[in-house]
Parts: sequence; structure tokens; C-alpha cells
Amino acid sequence: MSIEIPRTRDDWHALAESLGFEARAFIDDAFVAADSGDTFESRNPATGEILAQVASCDEPDAERAVAAARQAFAGGEWSRLAPAKRKRILQRLADLMEANKHELALLDTLDMGKPISSSLGDMNGAIACIRYQAECIDKLYGEVAPTGEDSLALVLREPIGVVAAIVPWNFPLMMTAWKIAPALAAGNSVILKPSEKSPLSALRLAQLTREAGFPKGVFQVLPGFGHTVGKALALSMEVDCLAFTGSTAVGKQLMQYAGQSNLKRVYLECGGKSPNLVFADCQDLDRVAEHAAAAIFHNQGEVCIAGSRLLVENSIRDDFVERVLKAAESMQPGDPLDPASFMGAIVDEAQHRRILDYIRQGVEEGAQLRSGGQALEGPGLFIPPTVFDGVTPQMTIGREEVFGPVLAVFGFDTEDEAIAMANDTHYGLAAGLWSQDIDRIMRVTRRLQSGQVFVNNWAGGDQTMPFGGVKQSGNGRDKSHHSLEEYSELKSVWMSLTP
Ligand code: NAD
Repeated sequence: MSIEIPRTRDDWHALAESLGFEARAFIDDAFVAADSGDTFESRNPATGEILAQVASCDEPDAERAVAAARQAFAGGEWSRLAPAKRKRILQRLADLMEANKHELALLDTLDMGKPISSSLGDMNGAIACIRYQAECIDKLYGEVAPTGEDSLALVLREPIGVVAAIVPWNFPLMMTAWKIAPALAAGNSVILKPSEKSPLSALRLAQLTREAGFPKGVFQVLPGFGHTVGKALALSMEVDCLAFTGSTAVGKQLMQYAGQSNLKRVYLECGGKSPNLVFADCQDLDRVAEHAAAAIFHNQGEVCIAGSRLLVENSIRDDFVERVLKAAESMQPGDPLDPASFMGAIVDEAQHRRILDYIRQGVEEGAQLRSGGQALEGPGLFIPPTVFDGVTPQMTIGREEVFGPVLAVFGFDTEDEAIAMANDTHYGLAAGLWSQDIDRIMRVTRRLQSGQVFVNNWAGGDQTMPFGGVKQSGNGRDKSHHSLEEYSELKSVWMSLTP
């Protein structure tokens, strides 16, 4: 059955039935089994169905890919290609992604459980990112330093070499695009290690890069586990840069691997426990409550910038929590292939257990469970929107990243108290604040320790805005032309001129 543009739940199911999967690694322009022959299962968390047996790469595969990437870089077919020509190939890739966007979206939904409408949004974001970085690359100039007449001093931007991009499963293809678009645009060879929980869209992307015309060895994909192939890439003496999105714990490990090997550059986008501050002067409390609920329940709460700590001024707290509960009621999980579902399935059993364990701790430590809290009956791994009120900063659910649909509500009386509570975390990825008072907005925004602040919205932004955190949320910035800085080196050239 061929469906031009799937629109209904039945269309998506029919398309899923007809889909084939590429499950081999993509090394040196060929789709191959892992050197060991090992595979791991890719499973649909909404049904439990096994989708594919995926090549489980390890050190020998990493070595082969790194050698091919190094050779491609030295050959210069991509690294020394004029930026305007690199741009055209990246644009071709974006066009191919656009033409295959429904299939790519479906792969992410089947692989990790997110609703199809959300996956389609991710595809638009991924394509926009590739187009943006492609457009940037032939518009960024080097510098001529202001020296005397007896010299000419140039600051040149050059690609770094081999970049390993290690990404998570919560936005599989979008996180991939945020790394590979600037890294490729800048002229590097890129090896992508997708998460073992969501490798399928990356392998389909590899097919599209081939069609787009990237030279051999410039883009490769190594599916497999973090402690095997991920670690091998991170310890490689021939990888020049690690671009990572994932947990803070693994980010710390990667910095150690860099120190143990070749001091490769390490850019980290890590976890968060983001505060969302609601002041009593807000005008439309229903609208704010809807956004506050969506800030945590979107993507099943498996979002790095989830607004997982809701800080509400005590004078409106009881009323506001009621409105959040009402909004959450309309965000129940459903079939990920139904375009009407707001939430889908939790990625796998381990994450499902982990979230339920946090909920149990919330109850045991005395937070008031106001909604959800129980897994839905199977098949499939579904947890409804869960709201805890009366959370204190000492409670586990008030401090740790749950990475699931669990909202912790706190109360505050003063602006200073709200800011202190918001900053009382070792994370600093995102923060939100809702108020009509422009003086307050500016005061609070400046004092929030966070890479990004959303004022009267949650998660606003586009390709022009850098995305990243402070403190233990990482040191990197995805998106915008600033991300290109991470994937290029500055070369200073001082030329003495004959007087
Ligand atoms: P994770 O850290 O477990 O895994 C991320 C990636 O690292 C995966 O590909 C994994 O295989 C790999 N990895 C694991 N151990 C490794 C090792 N020892 N060496 C090399 N690679 C290794 O994270 P996850 O569960 O996939 O994703 C969830 C986390 O990602 C959350 O903490 C979330 O906040 C964070 N995240 C951050 C951002 C951001 O932009 N800051 C965006 C999305 C997700």
C-alpha cells in the first residue's frame, strides 16, 4: 500500500507495516555488519515488537571508521572544498530529508515511542538546522588584524579534523542534525554514534547522505552501545573533537577519556532540572497553566529542557495547581501513531522503571501526589502526567532529573526566594518566567543561572538562537552560527611585508 502523505492513525499504521529498516553500520561508504557480527534489538516501546536486529559496533569498527574519516579529511575532497560547494551538498541533503520526512519521522516514533506529530516537528527542526548551517558557511569571513603597514595578519578558520558525534534517544534525528550540520558545514569528517535506543533514523540518514553526494568517509554511522563503540571513539587518538548530547554522568566520563587520550575538544550538552517561575501578576492563568503542563509533559517528559520544577507564588498556588491539573488531564498518553496523541510511550523498560522509582520516592519523601503516578496497563510502556505538589528542594524528585512525565511543584513568597530556589541546582540548562512586570522580568532574567531563559513562553527559539547550558548542564552550544565555532580552529598567520 502506498500512501502519499499519511494523515490519519490508519495511514501511519499502514505506512509502518510497509517500512523496511537499514540496520547495518555505515562505514567508509558501505553498509556493513559489525566486525564481531554482533547485533542488538531495536524494539517499539509502544507495542514491544522487535523492529530490527541492529549492528552492534565496537572498537574494531570505530578504528575502521576513524581511519576512513582521517583519510577523507587528509584527501581534502570535503575539507578543502569551497564552502559554497559544501553548502550545495548540504542543501541537497536537506531536500532529500524533506522528501523522506514522513518515513524519517516514523522511524523515530517506532524506535523510541514519541507521538508522530512530535516526530514530524523534529524533522522540520532537523531540516531547518541543516539548511541554516549550510547557508551560514559561505557567509562567515575570517579576519584581518589591525597591524602596522609592515605586516599583514590574518585569522583563518579551518576545520578541526575528525568529529565524533554521540547523541541521545529523546530527539534522535534532531539532536543528530544539531551536531552534524555545523560539523559538516565547517569541513570536518563526522562519525555519528546514535543512541542504542534509537539507531534507525540515523541509518536512513546515512543512505540519504550517500544520495546527496558526500565524498566517501566524510559521514559515517556506528550504531552500538556507549561503553563499547562510544567509549572507543572517545578514547581514540585520531578523533579531534567529541560533540556530545546526553546525561551529565556520561559527559563527565567523556572529559576523562579526552584527558586520557589526545585532549580532544569536548563539547557537552547535558541534563537539566529546569525551573519554571510563575508570579502572581500573570494575567491569563489558564494559558500559563497549559504551557506549564506542556513544558513537562511534551515528549513524555523525556526532554532535556523539560520544565520539571514549577515554582509558583504562594498567593496563587492552590488555584494555579488546579489549572495545571486540568491541563494535564488533556495530555494523556496514547497510540504514538495517532496524530492526536500528545504523549506517547516511554523509551524502554529501564527508563520506565526509573521513572516509577522516582515517583515512589516522591510519595515516600512526603510530596503530595495530585495526579498520575501509576503506569498504564500494557502492552506498551505508558505513564500518565504525574503532578506532585508541596515539593521541597531536599526531596529527590525536587533535585534529580527524572526524564519522564513528573512535575514537581514548589511554592515561594518573594522574588529573592524564587531566584534562590531556581538556582539551587547543579544544572543550568533552561529556565522560564511568567510575569507582566518588565522590571521584574529583567531583574530575574539576569539573576537566573541558565543557558537560556524563556519569558512568557516555554522552549521558544529557532535556528538563530544558541542552545546549551551552564554549570553541569554542559559547555557546548548547538544551533546558530555560534555552533560553527565549536567545529573550527583559528589559525593566526602573521606575514612580514617588505617595506
Ligand atoms: P546517556 O548519557 O545515557 O547516553 C547518551 C549517548 O552517550 C548515547 O549514545 C550512549 O550510548 C552514549 N554513551 C553512554 N555511555 C558512554 C560512554 N561511556 N562512552 C561514550 N558514549 C557513551 O543519555 P541518554 O539516556 O541517551 O539521554 C538522556 C540525557 O540526555 C538526559 O540527561 C538529557 O537531559 C540529556 N539531553 C540533553 C540535551 C541538551 O541539549 N542539553 C538534549 C537531549 C538530551
